[in-house]
Amino acid sequence: MTEVPSADASARIERFRQLLQGSRHAVFFTGAGVSTESGIPDFRSPGGVWSRQQPIQYQEFVSSEAKRTEAWARRFNNTDGWVGARPNPGHIAIANLIRTGRASAVITQNVDNLHQQSGVPDDKVIELHGNASYATCLTCHQRYELTDLEREFRALGLVNPCRHCGGIIKSATISFGQQMPAIPMQRAQEEVLRCDLFIVLGSSLTVFPAADFPLRARENGAALIIVNRDPTPLDDCADVLIHAGIGETLGKVLT
Ligand code: ZN
Repeated sequence: MTEVPSADASARIERFRQLLQGSRHAVFFTGAGVSTESGIPDFRSPGGVWSRQQPIQYQEFVSSEAKRTEAWARRFNNTDGWVGARPNPGHIAIANLIRTGRASAVITQNVDNLHQQSGVPDDKVIELHGNASYATCLTCHQRYELTDLEREFRALGLVNPCRHCGGIIKSATISFGQQMPAIPMQRAQEEVLRCDLFIVLGSSLTVFPAADFPLRARENGAALIIVNRDPTPLDDCADVLIHAGIGETLGKVLT
């Protein structure tokens, strides 16, 4: 790979800054690359969680007590690598831009709750793959806290059914084989069509619907910025393309 001349890199940062300043409705789209800077492994990458252990499919989880026990054991033994992570400068920059009204929302593929932890209001975070920091009943959607479920799991070796309706309790993430969540998908599509600037941060843009949103935003007249360490299939469509870290890039844009 050729080294980008520093003058060119500065021009890209300056163009990013101009597009952000001129935007009336900027939307972020974040992927694993934002959270790897908090030490959370990218589960799809080589060496990531899914290259070491098979993901438990949704159908397996709902149909097998043994699979549910395995899923909870993985969760509480922290083989997923999420526990204890803290927001990094990238999260904090995004949160500042949203809180001050310079960006409207963040659509995320991440499930680690770090956008909320960094100060983005809950209603401005659109989670396409759910949230791993709590659990819900699959039938009545009652929320359950993981600390309570872990205590139960350590005492009984299982997580009991929902105490309200008897339904199955599951981490609030979207599993492989599970349908995309209807309301977040709809909200994401609305943001994609409303925005005049779509900013991709740390997504390889290879998984549906990630690959689709930037193109739809662009077709609808929005400018497109992509910041990702590695090339993406949509690099040629970007108005500004930066192959670098998220925290360092946003730090430069906002100074
Ligand atoms: Zn229930």
